[in-house]
Amino acid sequence: MKLRRDPDQYYRSPLLAGEAWLEHAFGTAAAEAGDNCLALRQVHSARVITAGEWSPEVEADGLVTNRPGERIAVKSADCVPILFADPVKRVVGAVHAGWRGTVAGVAEAGVEALAGRFGSRPEDLLVAMGPSIGPCCYEVGEEVSVLFRALFPEWDRLAHPGRIDLREANRRILMRGGVPERRIASAAPCTFCGGSEFFSWRRDRQTGQRMFAVIGVRE
Ligand SMILES: [Zn+2]
Repeated sequence: MKLRRDPDQYYRSPLLAGEAWLEHAFGTAAAEAGDNCLALRQVHSARVITAGEWSPEVEADGLVTNRPGERIAVKSADCVPILFADPVKRVVGAVHAGWRGTVAGVAEAGVEALAGRFGSRPEDLLVAMGPSIGPCCYEVGEEVSVLFRALFPEWDRLAHPGRIDLREANRRILMRGGVPERRIASAAPCTFCGGSEFFSWRRDRQTGQRMFAVIGVRE
């Protein structure tokens, strides 16, 4: 299930676009930055907080909320933005997963936060990933790839895979956490080779350039 780009320069997932009770968007370089939304001080952790715990100083890499009218956001420029929705409980979440957060299990922490705070069942969740660096362009050293071996048992134990598929890694983590495969949309454009439409930290080394992925329960 592919993301579609809307005329407003945001990408949206067909998986979430069918849920009239929520709004969501994956920003591009051309899209407006996230005004009127709660955005985190991201630190490549597996910490997920509720919007009620948010303040500008709090360091975390995921937010969850059930409050109508409140929009939550994560910023990225190669890392994987992951948006969660539970149509049964009507709660949403947003998580930022670079390689450190992925290995730390931030995606599963998102599932657990929705379950622990709002009673969401993993099998009810819908999860969509946004534009992020793809396996086409994400070269890593062996010190990083070795951390992913448990997630990719099909790798030859002796070979050093020089490229990592972060979205696939997070898809597997989500399935391990109980989210059904058909309820996860992980296909998305690559920020590195996708052109100027996207910010890419690895390509541009521009630290201030981030794209916002936003989700919220409609009022
Ligand atoms: Zn690429």
